Amino acid sequence: HASKLPQVGTTIFTEMSALANTHKALNLSQGFPNFKSDPLLIDLVFKAMKAGYNQYAPMAGSMALRAAIAQKYQALYKSSYRPETEITVTAGATQAIFTIISAFVRKADEVIIFRPAYDCYEPAITLQGGIPVSVQLKAPDYTVDWDVVEAKVTSNTKMIIINSPHNPSGTLWSKNDMLRLQQITKDTNIIVLSDEVYEHIVFDGQSHQSACLFSELKERSFITASFGKTFHNTGWKVGYCCAPKALMQEFRKVHQFNVFSVNHPAQKGLADYMQTPSHYLKLSEFYQNKRDLFLSLIKGSRFKAIPSQGTYFQVLEYSNITNENDVAFAKHLTITHKLAAIPLSVFNENKRDDKVLRFCFAKTNETLEEAAAILCGI
Ligand code: GLN
Repeated sequence: HASKLPQVGTTIFTEMSALANTHKALNLSQGFPNFKSDPLLIDLVFKAMKAGYNQYAPMAGSMALRAAIAQKYQALYKSSYRPETEITVTAGATQAIFTIISAFVRKADEVIIFRPAYDCYEPAITLQGGIPVSVQLKAPDYTVDWDVVEAKVTSNTKMIIINSPHNPSGTLWSKNDMLRLQQITKDTNIIVLSDEVYEHIVFDGQSHQSACLFSELKERSFITASFGKTFHNTGWKVGYCCAPKALMQEFRKVHQFNVFSVNHPAQKGLADYMQTPSHYLKLSEFYQNKRDLFLSLIKGSRFKAIPSQGTYFQVLEYSNITNENDVAFAKHLTITHKLAAIPLSVFNENKRDDKVLRFCFAKTNETLEEAAAILCGI
């Protein structure tokens, strides 16, 4: 049979984690914490199981969790989403993203993505017969040239996918970026998919510019988020999305036949855990300390860094060390130096190689020290 995704192989995250395991390398490639979730959260999920939350959750998600999410948007952004009609719990942000794209993108619709782009966007667009339209952001600062974006918006543009804090670059979009997006989409039918999975990981006193803060943008936006990123349990695969009622109605038509509903005891445990907002509000400081530790430890190395502004990723440029392309250098680093990272070219248009690797610093301080020692020796 002819492949529907002829260009797609195995994701870089699976590939690099497997290579790290084979070569017993420290794994700073795939983004996941190597420390434990809060035991209190584990207890809450266990309690939910013992209390009998073991059958299907409601299709759109546990009402307790949707209510907790609505409360968070009210408290943090003074933004109102109705739990009944405007919030749906999903199997991670990945399922939310796939479902949003499936529900709206038709054959020949154009979808604008900013590169380097997280790798699940493009295949989902292609599977629907949509056309990914790339706006390439460039190292070292990855800022957006809005004139380029404006030039790429056509009458066929169905959706624009944005992601701040940005994986893989660790950059943030400013209020001006969001205002510009709002202005460009004004008087159009464009849907914005705002991937905000790192909303609670923002550094140096900056603030997260959620799409829900801009009233006209909010009207056309899906916001996706992930508890895996926020509460250190990427393996649970629980996330959610928010959108105005009319958009969410279409989303749920697909969601109900895609997963129907998501792990019930985890949802109940997360709902109870979210009653204490400090559980997510302290995350920026927690990860800023890790970023700072990692950056101070590699100061003497030949890698160049612009400090990450958010996410738990730090990109390092290595052109002082070798001219090797980033995929080859990432493999060499894993096999020879026993440290795995993610090459950025795989997320770029035409595999553009800026000689940068992404390192995940959601790791214990001991792991970061070991990794830095390796980097300083190269
Ligand atoms: N989001 C994680 C990362 O960027 C990986 C998730 C996955 O493996 N699919 O590293």
